[in-house]
Amino acid sequence: LQLLVNPDGRHLTAALLSDQELRTQLHDMAGPVEPLPGPLFVELFEDQVRARPDDLAATHNGRQWSYGELNARANRIAHALLRNGLTAEEPVAVVMERNLDWIAALLGVFKAGGVYLPVRPDFPVDRVATQLRGAACRFGVTESASARTLEGAIDELGADGFVVLPVEAEAGSAHVTNPGTPIFPDQLAYIYFTSGSTGAPKGAMCEHAGMLNHQFIKITDTELVPGDVVTQTASQCFDISLWQVVAPLLVGGSTLIVDTAAQLDVAGFIGMLAAGGVDVIQVVPSFLDVMVSHLARNPSSLGDVRMVSVTGEALKIDLVRRWFAVMPDIKLINAYGATEVHDDTMHEVLHGVPATDFVSVGRPQRNVRTYVLDESFRLAPLGTPGEIAFAGVSVGRGYINDEERTALAFTEDPYHPGDRVYRTGDFGRWLPDGTIEFLGRRDEQVKIRGYRVEIGEIENKLLRMPEVDECAVIVVGTADDTKTLVAWYTTSATVLAEQLRDFLGALLPEYMVPTSFHRLPSLPLTENGKVDKKSLTRMAAAA
Ligand code: ADP
Repeated sequence: LQLLVNPDGRHLTAALLSDQELRTQLHDMAGPVEPLPGPLFVELFEDQVRARPDDLAATHNGRQWSYGELNARANRIAHALLRNGLTAEEPVAVVMERNLDWIAALLGVFKAGGVYLPVRPDFPVDRVATQLRGAACRFGVTESASARTLEGAIDELGADGFVVLPVEAEAGSAHVTNPGTPIFPDQLAYIYFTSGSTGAPKGAMCEHAGMLNHQFIKITDTELVPGDVVTQTASQCFDISLWQVVAPLLVGGSTLIVDTAAQLDVAGFIGMLAAGGVDVIQVVPSFLDVMVSHLARNPSSLGDVRMVSVTGEALKIDLVRRWFAVMPDIKLINAYGATEVHDDTMHEVLHGVPATDFVSVGRPQRNVRTYVLDESFRLAPLGTPGEIAFAGVSVGRGYINDEERTALAFTEDPYHPGDRVYRTGDFGRWLPDGTIEFLGRRDEQVKIRGYRVEIGEIENKLLRMPEVDECAVIVVGTADDTKTLVAWYTTSATVLAEQLRDFLGALLPEYMVPTSFHRLPSLPLTENGKVDKKSLTRMAAAA
């Protein structure tokens, strides 16, 4: 028997597990150890540019750029950032719509050794300012159609000396050679802000080695080869958008950007897959549901599509059954991970309906170690439910300028001194075949159309409205349905639902604004005095 003593209770220890079980958990269940290639992402992309300058790299609304064209555009942006004094590990806000210039901008930031910080131009200025302040950002790349958001945020911050580069201004620049900026494996690569329960978003920092490892997970996952086309459908504030662009560019494939409106027109989207020669797509379960319902009513071909990666929230067995009923030959991948660990760390490839009555999240991928922890932060015995945690090169650096929240989620790995462990907040349990069954969340984090949302952030923002005394927000609907947020509040003043909606709309992205607001004389409480959310959920269903 082995027991690792853990005086402060915060470090990972092993429960009274046999040596045999410990070995199984720490070695046999871990993902394969595979060395990363020497060159990092930027050099690997530049190798592809040299090998195939005229091949297709990216398509958007009928416009196409070759590898050579994309590289030249990215280099112009990189040189402009360097000329303006960008140094290694400095964040650069890329405030762009998803288009070809956005790809050039994000590549340009990496090439200059900067840190890619994506910002959606339609996000409220207040939120953008919070993110820029949180990351101590002083560089921005934008385009004329999106510049107002960045300018508004800079005004709000009062940031003198903030450097704004409009991509149009660089279009004619003669600086098209590779800048050759040195980049190191543990250098910061990007920051994605996710919802934070305290009310402030958290900026998850990820490093180059972890990013590259993730690209190879996806390349292997989806069996990408030169000439393959991957759709770019995810919002630029969702980290999965990055591999949808980067992974194909590392193997000689291309990315096809699909505008959100074009994706939501499901018949048009399916037609686009066939016409665009698409090989791999990635969607969230709620959109897979929309596709399946459409395909069941209108049988049609998806052209060359061979694989659909599904991610972001639990994939239900019923949806898998419905998928294979309409598309028996197209594989599904249930990809599981989190922004803090570079997205996909575990996955299950489904060639057909599994024999179980749930879909497992599969097994750890290359260089990923997965731990299931009990309440004392010890390895739980195999098969016992616990919190899923990750270790290995995939684990990011924590939350930017936020030691407190970093310390709550990240800790040191005693089995690999110097490595970090990230606690996901997800529950799961090991199955005998080395895969994991996902069992839900330990907190109030939810997914709305794949977007990660902390209910506490919405409630905190609503309480900023002077007329609101108390409030509670709940989710109605299940994963595969369209889930909606419902807000309950008490007030001693007069306030209309419209005013509450407008107030939140100015502070939060559209997917975080509740669809309905209900006034109550007081919020129902449980026996121990907490807001009784189950009762509010029943009331919402009745309403
Ligand atoms: P991503 O890195 O995939 O963009 P987010 O950081 O937005 O993920 O959200 C991470 C959380 O999403 C996970 O901790 C988990 O709760 C949920 N999640 C992601 N993928 C899956 C999946 N395949 N099955 C169940 N839950 C998932």
